[in-house]
Amino acid sequence: MGKLDALWEYQQSELALDALESKLRATPARQKLNKLHGFLSEQQAQIGGIKKQMEARKAALTRLSAQFGELEHKYELEVSEICAMENDPECTAAEMTESRKSLENLMDQLNAARRDIYDTITWIEKATKDYKDTFTKASKAKKEYDAARAACEAEIAAAQPELDAAKAVIEQRKTAVDAALLKRYAAVKSHHAVPMAMVEQEQCSGCRMSLPTVVVRKVMAGDGLVECENCGRILYFPSAGK
Ligand SMILES: [Zn+2]
Repeated sequence: MGKLDALWEYQQSELALDALESKLRATPARQKLNKLHGFLSEQQAQIGGIKKQMEARKAALTRLSAQFGELEHKYELEVSEICAMENDPECTAAEMTESRKSLENLMDQLNAARRDIYDTITWIEKATKDYKDTFTKASKAKKEYDAARAACEAEIAAAQPELDAAKAVIEQRKTAVDAALLKRYAAVKSHHAVPMAMVEQEQCSGCRMSLPTVVVRKVMAGDGLVECENCGRILYFPSAGK
């Protein structure tokens, strides 16, 4: 077996582990878990948003109530002032009209403040309901999430012997590979998930680029490292008699 054959075998063992791991990532339980994870994050963000808005509105309500109290107090003062003016013979009609106008204005302000308070309370009530609904939905999803996670953990546990065996094959095959080749392989792997490509019909099977005859010959001779000029993968042709 040539140096590149050993590297190829090593790659095959890595691919076998990748296949096992991607199979575990694609199970129905795992897909369900991913979906629930997304849903839960969304719900949590929503709950956080509602909570923040509710706090702001509650603070606004406190402010509005204080303002309303002040207006009410002012209104009462002006009412008693007008009563006093009505009994005061020196008070002119113009002064009375002025005071009544001011009282009407205060009345308008009170009504507006009352409406604001009412709207804010209505908003808070609706938000409280939304909050509860979202919370209930999220709690239900959390239970489903926990169940799905347990199922995934069981799947991984069941697959562990197979995973360990695949890892052991990788380690064992690694020892047969030339150190310099392994280093090059790792460098190519940072660009390509599958760093080695078989030469098929004078093409690189990684990128499908036609290879010059001289390159094909060099690869077939199997005595050195040849990379595809186009994609950079390590080109491979199985040794004769293998
Ligand atoms: Zn290529």
